Amino acid sequence: MKTILEYQEQFKKKEITPLGLLENCLENINPSLNAYITVTGEFAKRELKKNNKEGKLKGIPIAIKDNINIKGIPTTCASNVLKGFVPPFSATVIERIEKNGGIFTGKTNLDEFGMGSSTERSFYGPTKNPFDPTKVPGGSSGGSAVAVASGSAVISLGSDTGGSVRQPASYCGLVGLKPTYGRVSRYGLVAFASSLDQIGIIGRNAEDVGIMLEVIAGYDPKDSTSYEKEVEDYSNLNEIPKDIKIGIPEEYFKQIDPEVHSSVMEIKSKIEKEGIYFKSVSLPTTGYIIPTYQVISYAEASSNLARYDGVRYGLRKEGEDFHDTIRKSRDKGFLPEVKRRILVGTFVLSSEAIAEYYERADLIRRLITQEFNEVFKEVDYLLTPATPTPAFPIGERTDDPIRMHVPDRMTAGVNLAGLPAVVAPAGMVGKLPIGYQIIGKPFDEKGILSVVRLVEKVAPFKGFLKEIQDG
Ligand code: GLN
Repeated sequence: MKTILEYQEQFKKKEITPLGLLENCLENINPSLNAYITVTGEFAKRELKKNNKEGKLKGIPIAIKDNINIKGIPTTCASNVLKGFVPPFSATVIERIEKNGGIFTGKTNLDEFGMGSSTERSFYGPTKNPFDPTKVPGGSSGGSAVAVASGSAVISLGSDTGGSVRQPASYCGLVGLKPTYGRVSRYGLVAFASSLDQIGIIGRNAEDVGIMLEVIAGYDPKDSTSYEKEVEDYSNLNEIPKDIKIGIPEEYFKQIDPEVHSSVMEIKSKIEKEGIYFKSVSLPTTGYIIPTYQVISYAEASSNLARYDGVRYGLRKEGEDFHDTIRKSRDKGFLPEVKRRILVGTFVLSSEAIAEYYERADLIRRLITQEFNEVFKEVDYLLTPATPTPAFPIGERTDDPIRMHVPDRMTAGVNLAGLPAVVAPAGMVGKLPIGYQIIGKPFDEKGILSVVRLVEKVAPFKGFLKEIQDG
């Protein structure tokens, strides 16, 4: 696999056509990995013949998480409740990609409605990690990561509510960006927890991710939380950031595998040699991230998912009366984890529990945000592990919702505070990749991608899958 610019250079030189590249990608789809819910190859070929558009993503095959709407193609959110639902409109990000000549390989697998860290909790079955199919690819954007890691797409979109773009990037040896809240329009992304959700990008390097961000970022009148701020040239990353200070938050290095610790420290020492200054910092509220994230995201999910009632969308199971129909449709529509979250979320918002749970969590969220703000007065970026361990075995955590949330400790604080963060490969632990994370100040996507670009130069990642490396 090559970079976006390399492919476009090949198009110019007529070494390969966009149709040829698309066909290569479609051939790389390995059904046993189960990365896709819907493959849209034929649709893509028709689009390509109809309008071979110019633009930053001209001819680039892209995989889209199946909670982002493409007009006329089913959106399932990996849930039975959306069975048969075909959106009548496209997400803003999809329209922008189409305008820039990008084409879609398909809709990728996820944990139902984005609720998970492994892409096992899907109505369409688990997705497998291409580095070791007995391991999870991470989640919930596991299908989007596997599509890129196994060469069926050059780049992909996911969504990140508590880490869902960054965790699978870590487990699959890729670059995963969660932009600042408001940087990318959420219009057409199916809501999980609206104050945390953000569409993110999974690619093979910082430059590709930057090109995609240039296309999808920017104000959208259809999303009132999108921000009116100029879109930068995120792919122009060769300027090495000068005089920057990177903080190492000690709390993020506790309770992690020793190999993860040493891989991230190796990244630190490599860029230290480039003259970058590191400093130990402390974020004492780190231990509260998971419970705070759970209360807030479950509460918002319980409200957002109330719309799936068997009346307006998808699956309908007839009951004896109106309420019974809703009950039966929801019962057959959702898997257990989604039901558990709707119940807990409804409880934490109930009059008896709201003060003790939701309002407290909201307060702690503000403390977490303040702590990040304080630390960012001392340093420009934070370096942390992306996940506490490499990919874990399929089936290990499916019956243990608390253990499934463990990796969120590294990632969900960023969503609670609305910050941008990027994960990129730090190295290999045995045959599995492991990532590091760079967290930045609000709207400093260019900065965090530049740090990744610097690491790519001084310590290039060699762990890409063999066949993909050669192809
Ligand atoms: N793992 C987290 C969860 O289960 C994050 C999911 C996400 O970012 N969509 O909620």
